[in-house]
Amino acid sequence: MTCIFCRIVNKEIQADIVYEDDWVIAFADIHPQAATHLLIVPRKHISTINQLQEQDAELAGRMILAAKKLAHERKLSENGYRLVMNCNADGGQTVFHLHLHLLGGRRFGWPPG
Ligand code: 5GP
Ligand code: ZN
Repeated sequence: MTCIFCRIVNKEIQADIVYEDDWVIAFADIHPQAATHLLIVPRKHISTINQLQEQDAELAGRMILAAKKLAHERKLSENGYRLVMNCNADGGQTVFHLHLHLLGGRRFGWPPG
């Protein structure tokens, strides 16, 4: 198995895991872009948003709910935070196992650069 996030899900390689449930695992990004930078990753391998199916609707919702819970635990809820899901080259995706970035602890601009 070559997918790096599948290997983290399967505990074959180390990550700073901060949350796990039946649907997702969350861990610290290895190259953090903010004081809080977590990745919420489904246990199921789905390569990009393009491969999401109707039957993955609960999984997609669980990813967002896990991010909300983690943001609350880190006291980011009031000041705010950003959730990002990149898709393919123009979206800036580099790891082809679906993941949601939770970024917080600084102010982000809009529109993105
Ligand atoms: P993408 O650009 O695909 O949306 O985001 C991939 C993210 O995964 C990047 O922010 C990158 O720093 C992170 N990443 C890549 N490889 C690893 C790894 O082996 N461990 C961890 N914890 N994060 C990784
Ligand atoms: Zn994978």
